[in-house]
Amino acid sequence: MTLTEVRAGLAAHELTREEVIAALWERIAACEPTVHAFLSLADPDRLIADGEPLSGLPLSGLPIAIKDNICARDLPTTCGSRMLQRFRSPYEATAVARLRSAGAQVQGKTNLDEFAMGSSTEHSAFGPTRNPHDPSRVPGGSSGGSAAAVAAGEALAALGSDTGGSVRQPAALCGVVGLRPTYGLVSRYGLVAFASSLDTIGPIAGCVRDAALVLSLVAGHDPLDSTSLPVPPHDYTADLRPDLRGVRIGVPKEYVPRELGPEALALVERWREVAEELGAKVMDITLPTTEYALPTYYLIASAEAAANLARYDGVRYTLREEGDRVGAMIARTRAVGFGPEVKRRIALGTFALSAGYYDQYYGKAQRVRTLIARDFAGAFAEVDLILGPTSPTPAFRFGEKEDPIAMYLADVFTLPSALAGLPAISIPGGTVGGLPFGLQLIGPRLSEERVLSAALAFEEALN
Ligand code: GLN
Repeated sequence: MTLTEVRAGLAAHELTREEVIAALWERIAACEPTVHAFLSLADPDRLIADGEPLSGLPLSGLPIAIKDNICARDLPTTCGSRMLQRFRSPYEATAVARLRSAGAQVQGKTNLDEFAMGSSTEHSAFGPTRNPHDPSRVPGGSSGGSAAAVAAGEALAALGSDTGGSVRQPAALCGVVGLRPTYGLVSRYGLVAFASSLDTIGPIAGCVRDAALVLSLVAGHDPLDSTSLPVPPHDYTADLRPDLRGVRIGVPKEYVPRELGPEALALVERWREVAEELGAKVMDITLPTTEYALPTYYLIASAEAAANLARYDGVRYTLREEGDRVGAMIARTRAVGFGPEVKRRIALGTFALSAGYYDQYYGKAQRVRTLIARDFAGAFAEVDLILGPTSPTPAFRFGEKEDPIAMYLADVFTLPSALAGLPAISIPGGTVGGLPFGLQLIGPRLSEERVLSAALAFEEALN
């Protein structure tokens, strides 16, 4: 059942909260030994008892899964890293606090690539998550745990984080819905910082309506985040209509390269036909800066990560390896606490920021980022939405992308819109090789309602 269906069932007294929680924990017992979506779990009896007074609120005491780089007070916040293995946040993320005031409870914390760096959840220090559609394959990442939990029916909905694609790509690979909101629409307060100019929190859910509901409960201005937009809270479900009439949809030629293969190309063709049948005007467009997004993203994101991760020094945040001098203590703590991918990003970011190279790498990347944003602005003068695949391939096998560049290429279609700060959604678009393949819609800044309504139209037409 979707979250929307469960809410309706509770309102109509056709089911009870106890039954819902029991059913979720039955799925957890059946799936977790293989899927491993959760790093920590709440006690279901306690959720049943504590949920009683929440029954009149929008989420009626229902549990929601939270990616483990988003702080919640009652469970650890590990970021999938040995560095934070024993860390418990003394405060709560605004998104979590808002879910709680809407009557939700924290179901558990979901697995992720260490510090959200990755596209497969293989980089978690606590073991990978497996794709519920095929356990020999990855769930995508970095929010692989959140996407797998929803796909396996272990969670009704989840929060993920998307810096360069980490909500949309795992949603695509697990066959669920993932929304990256406009940068600044959902507060980053309490989201452990990876790349602050790119980080966003977004919902992962079983259907478009559920994603719109969760977004409504977490979005809106927050004085605790200096980059939070001055947007009041809004009900994104109120004007949700499966309507594409008169909508101009652009398909960038850079998003449908021949390398996608015949099956994926045929699916994109099918999406265009569906859009036209629903009254949209579909046109070919071009986003010529697409090929520069990957190097630009990895310079900017790594530079920001190198700065943000400097705080894990062995003095704060639980992990400390001894050393005879302070410098040795810090170096040993970081050597033991961080995994290889995190170290790679810190090295790359530190290099890009170093004196003498700053202008050549970081400065240049910032200028290219502006050009990428301009590219989108130009496209949105002609079209209302951009359509394409979320990811170039469906779920790949464990160990298949050992070369970091091969892994980074999993995000070629999600990085450009992230650099431009735009909202984008991934919904199930069909299958390729028998595995889920995501359809991505990208809109202009703060066009969440348009993006969600179009996504709902595709969802109804394709399923
Ligand atoms: N896969 C990308 C990376 O490794 C994006 C991660 C994310 O969005 N958190 O940086």
